[in-house]
Amino acid sequence: MIGARVPCLLALLMFFFARPATGGAGESSFKYQQVARQLLAAGMKDGESFSLLRELTSTVGSRLSGSPGAAKAVELVRRMLMKRGFDNVHLEPVMVPHWVRGPVESAVALPSRKGKPISLAICALGGSIATPNAGITAEVVEVKSFDDLHRMGERARGKIVFFNRPMDPTKLNTFEAYSGAVDQRSAGAVEAALAGGVAALVRSMTLALDNVPHTGVMGYRDSVARVPAAAVSTMGAETLARLLREDRHLKVHITLSCRTLPDVQSANVMGEIRGSASPEEIIVVGGHLDSWDKGVGAHDDGSGCVQAIEVLNLIRKLNLRPKRTIRAVLFMNEENGNRGGRGYVTAPGRSAEKQYAAIESDRGGFDPRGFSVQADSTVFTRTLAWQDCFDLLEAGKIARGFSGVDIFPTVEKGVPGFGLDVDSQRYFDYHHSNNDTLDKVNPRELEMGAIVEALLCYLISEEGL
Ligand SMILES: [Zn+2]
Repeated sequence: MIGARVPCLLALLMFFFARPATGGAGESSFKYQQVARQLLAAGMKDGESFSLLRELTSTVGSRLSGSPGAAKAVELVRRMLMKRGFDNVHLEPVMVPHWVRGPVESAVALPSRKGKPISLAICALGGSIATPNAGITAEVVEVKSFDDLHRMGERARGKIVFFNRPMDPTKLNTFEAYSGAVDQRSAGAVEAALAGGVAALVRSMTLALDNVPHTGVMGYRDSVARVPAAAVSTMGAETLARLLREDRHLKVHITLSCRTLPDVQSANVMGEIRGSASPEEIIVVGGHLDSWDKGVGAHDDGSGCVQAIEVLNLIRKLNLRPKRTIRAVLFMNEENGNRGGRGYVTAPGRSAEKQYAAIESDRGGFDPRGFSVQADSTVFTRTLAWQDCFDLLEAGKIARGFSGVDIFPTVEKGVPGFGLDVDSQRYFDYHHSNNDTLDKVNPRELEMGAIVEALLCYLISEEGL
């Protein structure tokens, strides 16, 4: 009967159109779609990303370069890679900066007329000098930009310069919002000093309105006086702005006890699955092992590290035997120097190898959307041809863009770079703060990132770029 025949015909048509085209790209695409499904099943059934991240964050915690935590992390991930029997597990030494926060960091707003002192939640920015022991007490000028500050002329002299331009909430991609505000953190101390200011106080780099300050790297310039620099929580920034509207002569008392110690030897950690046909061609998949000293670096970048290890786990579980070598690299010192990323390029072992591609996950362990490609148009076009495989994982957004800080020195030498792209909406709620803890990481989303990276590694290995 007709009613039964129509669905049958539909099924037949669906079957016909679902079949892979025979020969050429269609056939290989079908093969890789199968691999994508197998990676998904293996990762979701018994993937290890989250348990590795739990181990890293609970047994080590924060891992700022040069700290005991960083040394412990190097040893822990070396053991993780050894235990799993990967090839060529080793450390490559790098010298890293050693900045310590110290026990004291506080800021108090002091009204010029009557009124109680009001505490502001602050933390020193990474690399800042300390205040004198007694702290710094000064009036405050609020600016939204360096241009504002330049226009202020002598009015900033002797004051604490308060940089209070928020990240732009209208940007869909929060990394864009971050880029539009982070100059205040990185160069605020130099600009404050050039204007005759005595300290820099910077609104935290987050879109969240809360009372948690977010640290991050700042810099000095040799020819410019050094002044202390701290981040104030977004709620603290709102409070301070309100107080300044009511009281132009309000003062803030800041105390910081941070300092920079001599450089320390640390290391990049790596392990790999040796290529079966072209072992000298290396596909790097990495993240950075160091974190800030706030929180435990669960998203930034514990996630990228465990995903790199999980890529090797998944590829081996499926017995894929890649043609090229796939190497997990846990870089040291991305946050305040990138010595690991630069050291990787110049390490003695590199001259015998060809770095074939480099992949980095450093945007948090969130749901992957695809990846950004930092390479020439030939490579970009080639990766676009794999989109159907990534679409199966709902990660088919392939766009040109920056790859990653750690792999950038490699990419700069002409090696194609890939950055795992993820849902960015929550990243800066946690980034560089006490909020960056394991409970903010969703195990399935984290694992999905590893699955997408594993597929990319395998496609590059087998198909070439
Ligand atoms: Zn990072």
